[in-house]
Parts: sequence; C-alpha cells; structure tokens
Amino acid sequence: MKINHTNIDLNFQEIHPGLSQNEALEEANRCLYCYDAPCIKACPTGIDIPSFIKKIASGNLKGSAKTIMTANPMGASCSRVCPTEELCEGACVLNHTAKPIMIGNLQRYATDWAIKNEVDFFEPGTQNGKRVAIVGGGPAGLSAARELARLGYKADIFEAEEKAGGLNTFGIVPFRLPMAISDWEIEQVEKLGVTIHTKTRIGKDLSADELVNSYDAVILAIGMAHVPDLGIEGENLKGVYDAIEFVRDTKTKPLSHQFFGKKAVVIGAGNTAIDAATSSVRLGAGNVKILYRRTSEEMTAYAFEYEFAKQDGVEFRFLTAPSRIIGDEQGRVIGIECIKMELGEPAEDGRRRPVPIQGSEFILEADMVIKANGQARFVGLIEQFNLHHDDGVVKVDSASYQTSNEKVFACGDVIFGKGQGEAMVVSAAQQGKESAHAVHRSLAPFFAETV
Ligand SMILES: Cc1cc2nc3c(=O)[nH]c(=O)nc-3n(C[C@H](O)[C@H](O)[C@H](O)COP(=O)(O)OP(=O)(O)OC[C@H]3O[C@@H](n4cnc5c(N)ncnc54)[C@H](O)[C@@H]3O)c2cc1C
Ligand code: SF4
Repeated sequence: MKINHTNIDLNFQEIHPGLSQNEALEEANRCLYCYDAPCIKACPTGIDIPSFIKKIASGNLKGSAKTIMTANPMGASCSRVCPTEELCEGACVLNHTAKPIMIGNLQRYATDWAIKNEVDFFEPGTQNGKRVAIVGGGPAGLSAARELARLGYKADIFEAEEKAGGLNTFGIVPFRLPMAISDWEIEQVEKLGVTIHTKTRIGKDLSADELVNSYDAVILAIGMAHVPDLGIEGENLKGVYDAIEFVRDTKTKPLSHQFFGKKAVVIGAGNTAIDAATSSVRLGAGNVKILYRRTSEEMTAYAFEYEFAKQDGVEFRFLTAPSRIIGDEQGRVIGIECIKMELGEPAEDGRRRPVPIQGSEFILEADMVIKANGQARFVGLIEQFNLHHDDGVVKVDSASYQTSNEKVFACGDVIFGKGQGEAMVVSAAQQGKESAHAVHRSLAPFFAETV
C-alpha cells in the first residue's frame, strides 16, 4: 500500500468503499435464488441469503437488513470480517461456472443502509420476570443479550472495558472494521432495554458468587486474554509489544509517527499477527516481517488476510522461530535472533510439530518486535466460577452450552479450543444466540404460562 506520510489517519480509513447502488443491483440480479441454498448452510448464523439478496434486487433494503440482523445480531460487522470464501461464498453454486455472488458485500450494502437511515428492527419481549447476567460484552455476549431481551428477560451485561463490543470494538483493525459499525450493533442491543455495566470486571469489582446468587442464570462470554509470553530472553525490552494492545492503541489513541521507518518483526501467523503487521505498515514502519515456525499451509490467518498482508508489502519468513530478542545498552530492541525449523511428526492436534535445526541461528535487525503468538485464557475467573475447563477452555454441553454449573452457560471464544473450528465473530454471534435460547429452555418451565 502507498503510505500517506503527512496524514497517517488516512492510512487507517476503511479500505473498501462498499458497493454502489448499481453494483449492488447488478450483483443481486446475478443470484440464482437456489432452492435449499448451500450458502445458508455454510453461514454459521444461517442467514436466509437468497431472501436478503432478493430484497435488495426489489429495492426493499429495510427488509433485507432485517432478514440479516434477525439471524445475526452482528450482521453489520460480519459483512466486513467474515472469511466469506470459506463460508457462504465458498458454497455458492456459481463457483462451478463463474465467480460466486459477493454475499459479504451485499450484506454490507443492506446493513450500511440501515445504519445510515438509523433504522431499528426489534422490540423487547413481554417481561417474564427473570434476570440473566452476561459476563463480557463482545459479539457473543451482545448476541446473547439481544435474544434474551426479545424473549422477555432482563439482561445485564457486565463489561470490563469502558465500552462493549469486545474485539469488534478494540481488536479488529479499523481499516477492516471501523469502530462506528460496532457502536451501532451495541446501540441496537441497548435499545431493547439491555443494561451494559461498563468498567465492571467480574472477579474484581463483583465476584462470580455474587452474580450466580443474584441472577436466574449467568452467561460467561469473556473471550480470551492477552498474548502469552514467548518465554525467551529480551521480552521486557523497550520496543516489544503485545499485538492486541498494539492494535487497540491504533483504535483508541491519536496515531503516532514514532514508528516511521522502523524495522518491525511480528511473531505468529494468525488474525492478530496480520492485523499487527498491516497496522505497522500503515504507521509507516519501513520493513515489516512476519516470523512463523511452521509453513503457510498451517497458518491460522485466512487466505484473504495472507493476500492482504502480502499486498501491503509484509514479508513472510516461514519455518523460522525467535530464540532471543537483542537489546542495546539503553534496553531498546535492536535485533532478534532466530532459528530455522523443519516439520517433524504430527502432534496431538494433528499438525506436524516444528523442530529446530541446530546450528541454523541467524540475526535479523529489528527496532520493534510484536508478539502475536496466540491468546492466553482467563483461568482465574473460570476457576472463581468453579467450572470444569481444559487449560482455560470452558467445557460445555455442545447442545445446551451448559457448563459444569447448571446455572452458568458459556459461549464465544471462552469455549473455543484447539481443533474446534475457528474463532470467528460469526461463530461467537451464533453461540450467543444459541446459549440465550438454551437459558430460555432451562428457565421456561418456571414461567410456562408466558412461553
Ligand atoms: C486482532 C484480531 C483480529 C481478528 N480478526 C477476525 C476477523 O477478521 N474475522 C473474524 O471472524 N474473527 C476475527 N477475530 C476473532 C474474533 O474477534 C473473535 O472470535 C470474537 O471477537 C469472539 O467474541 P467473544 O464475544 O467470544 O469475545 P471478545 O470479542 O473477546 O469479547 C469478550 C469481552 O469480555 C470482556 N471481559 C473479559 N473478561 C471480563 C471480566 N472479567 N468481566 C467483564 N468483562 C470481561 C472483554 O473486555 C470483552 O469485551 C480476530 C481476533 C483478533 C484478536
Ligand atoms: S454472516 Fe458471514 S458467513 Fe453468514 S452470510 Fe454473512 S458474510 Fe456470509
């Protein structure tokens, strides 16, 4: 990408302008409106895609956006961040003969219209007297709250940050997902009477027991935590960053020129690494490298993200692991020692284990190192709730989202574990919806006459 050196705010503006009216109509009219459409099955939230596209074609944008938002409370953000080529668009029958329908872009066209025209779609249900606490106001928590409010529950979200939205608000880079889109989705939920208690960290400001004792049910939707330590020398040097904090700063603080011309090395090859690397490019870093200890085949970043980073000029060094971060006398990063790897036997998760090649160490010059090697878990809070978990991945019944405490349900990234699909906004939204309905099934017998 071409960096704007005089006004870096421009580098952080949304990359794609969205479809024009003519483009949207032309694309909508290409849809075959398949019977038993495979795209619906491929969307984790099961949006009736042919129906919302048909409504765009007939000029009914309000109806189109309502179809989307009914199935997916995060329908506006998903239109921008879903890996569509692996989901709905990947299943489009037109893949066999032509190019698939641009489902994500059409979804964005309809939801952008709703945002611009300040349309509200839903009403709260008749109050049934039951109260549910939701811990975490990210995509999973907001979706759960929306469904509960529509079912007549008093839903209270407890959110540690000053604002809800989770990674939609603070994590995903603004040039892919502007904060205003997340704000609109939060507002839609609040308008249904959901109270969001921001700056309230459960486990610190209120205990797990207090919630469990004062609500009829609790939904745990706390996501995952910070980037874990690499466990190598030099991690405390000045110029070493946690990728999630780094991206968050670009969304919440005035953009700084301090990274101009710097050599950046990003460690990891998932969503977070791509977002950190492409943000570094936009902040003016002179050279940005991603180090990954496996190959491009095993990276968890989506194909579109990989292409996007390459187009931004990010250099990928596969089969390379960091072994030491090197500093100068002032304690500032000046380089990183790496070691070459090769793939050995498959590990428990089925992926071939990377093995260091002894004697292959080499040094890369670097002024900044960004750690994007996964996310840790909120084990302390999970244990405060006294829930069964596997290394911080809360165990739930797959149909009911019920944890080992029958009053506590869990959804979103907090139940995402190795080998269990992908951590995505759309999955968090669907699980939030499903856990709300599971809470309803468990509490409904106690107010059967209103159900
Ligand atoms: C940098 C990055 C880029 C990504 N890009 C994509 C993408 O392009 N497409 C995609 O589909 N997915 C992407 N993802 C994944 C996606 O963002 C997550 O899967 C999704 O946000 C999970 O939703 P969640 O609600 O479970 O968790 P989160 O979004 O993490 O929300 C959890 C919320 O709980 C709050 N919380 C935590 N602890 C407490 C506590 N003790 N008390 C109160 N509140 C608490 C947090 O503050 C947060 O607001 C990305 C992730 C990252 C990190
Ligand atoms: S929510 Fe995501 S997967 Fe579902 S139709 Fe929209 S873009 Fe496709």
